[in-house]
Amino acid sequence: MSLETLESIRQFAEFYAKRTNTYFCSDKTVTAYVLKGLADNKKHLGSPLCPCRYYEDKREEAISSYWNCPCLPMRERKECHCMLFLPSENNYTSRNQNMSRQQLKTLLTL
Ligand code: SF4
Repeated sequence: MSLETLESIRQFAEFYAKRTNTYFCSDKTVTAYVLKGLADNKKHLGSPLCPCRYYEDKREEAISSYWNCPCLPMRERKECHCMLFLPSENNYTSRNQNMSRQQLKTLLTL
């Protein structure tokens, strides 16, 4: 786990939620573990490959970029199956677009 990469992903997620008018999940552990998965993939693959899917070959998927966050379904239709970015009408939305660095570390017990 790279704290530097985790922090850059956290900042990206806050920025992108605001830009797309979407919100983090009411269950903060969902947000925290998706951010961690994105950071792990960014560190190991060089791209923030979506952590909520199974891939035969992660490196090939990262190169193709379809599932690099924000993935194509999110960019085109605001569909985030990881529940990282939720529209306001979603039942699980927190109406919150922020997660502090310290809050994230606490949720991940880092
Ligand atoms: S579903 Fe798309 S937008 Fe959501 S975390 Fe995965 S890659 Fe990112």
